[in-house]
Amino acid sequence: TVKWGLIGASTIARQFVINAVHAQPNSEIASVMSSSPERAAAYAKENGIPLAVSTLDALFGSDIDAVYISTTNELHLEQALAAIRAGKHVLCEKPLALTSADARKMVAAAKAAGIVLGTNHHLRNAGSHRAMREAIAAGRIGKPIAARVFHSVYLPENLQGWRITRPEAGGGVVLDITVHDADTLRFVLDDDPLEVSAFTQAAGMAAGGLEDGAMCIWRFKSGIIAQSHEGFTTKFAGTGFEVHGSEGSLIAKDVMTQKPIGSVLLRTAKGEEELSFDREDLYARSLRQLHAAIRGEGQPSATGEDGVWSLTSAEAALQSAKSGKSVAIDPKL
Ligand code: NDP
Repeated sequence: TVKWGLIGASTIARQFVINAVHAQPNSEIASVMSSSPERAAAYAKENGIPLAVSTLDALFGSDIDAVYISTTNELHLEQALAAIRAGKHVLCEKPLALTSADARKMVAAAKAAGIVLGTNHHLRNAGSHRAMREAIAAGRIGKPIAARVFHSVYLPENLQGWRITRPEAGGGVVLDITVHDADTLRFVLDDDPLEVSAFTQAAGMAAGGLEDGAMCIWRFKSGIIAQSHEGFTTKFAGTGFEVHGSEGSLIAKDVMTQKPIGSVLLRTAKGEEELSFDREDLYARSLRQLHAAIRGEGQPSATGEDGVWSLTSAEAALQSAKSGKSVAIDPKL
């Protein structure tokens, strides 16, 4: 049995990850830590978690094998390093930290300690994105040339907190959504980004100098160019992911989401074909892969190194928006 401790009494754990843990055989949530003892107790009760604690020492002192970190972003580094020191495997939310240098420290510490460190880039687990990656690898669109990512959404009212008000907590749409787009592009294209050029905006929701909209242009090693649009303020845009190649195009709709929904169309000289793909819950698959990695079978869906790549990419996008110049992406791995 893998016994999980939750670090963070968060929305994402309550909405998705607790269920994903319960969906695994031989898996349970043993404890939850919140910085507030009252919130820990209320959260534990609401979610049927046996133990509520308010310090990391108490959490690590309880009988757990792994932790899921879903606190605000400025806390991930310290909490992950402490978990690794305590010998607990770690599934950490994105962005891994506030800087890529800190994320590299987490990866190095996990490696030195022989601990599994996964980054919860849920979109890699979507059947839609895996179907696109497989279609490209199988040559179904010929040589991939360009990609377009549509991931500008409306931030739900219940999440209009630290993301739009607290720069020190790692708020802003780039650390929230561009990290996912950078990772999903790397995954689907099976290629690494070399440089990015970005514009950001504050379109009326974010405060404190934070951005709530971004458009990025990416260049990949193979020569593919991509564009991505991330936002918190567009209510009616819809999401999508397209890859255009010499012999065909993949056009996916409603796939930049937490749910196993959407469609993937392959368009070639032969006509149009809807690709079928599995509809497993994204977070359940993430947990399944992480459990396998703990058993020594393979890697998490997104590794710590993947988390360094996505954060380095987002960091470069922010630098580009600030400087008005394109910025090289070097994860220094
Ligand atoms: P929340 O705002 O729900 O939770 C973050 C922290 O805020 C909690 O750890 C908690 O602190 C505190 N908090 C939560 N509710 C309250 C409250 N009512 N009053 C006071 N404090 C509260 O964040 P999210 O769940 O949206 O995000 C958490 C992390 O997960 C982030 O790193 C984010 O980037 C990531 N994320 C990833 C997603 C994915 O699909 N991969 C999707 C959504 C988020 P404490 O623990 O001390 O009680």
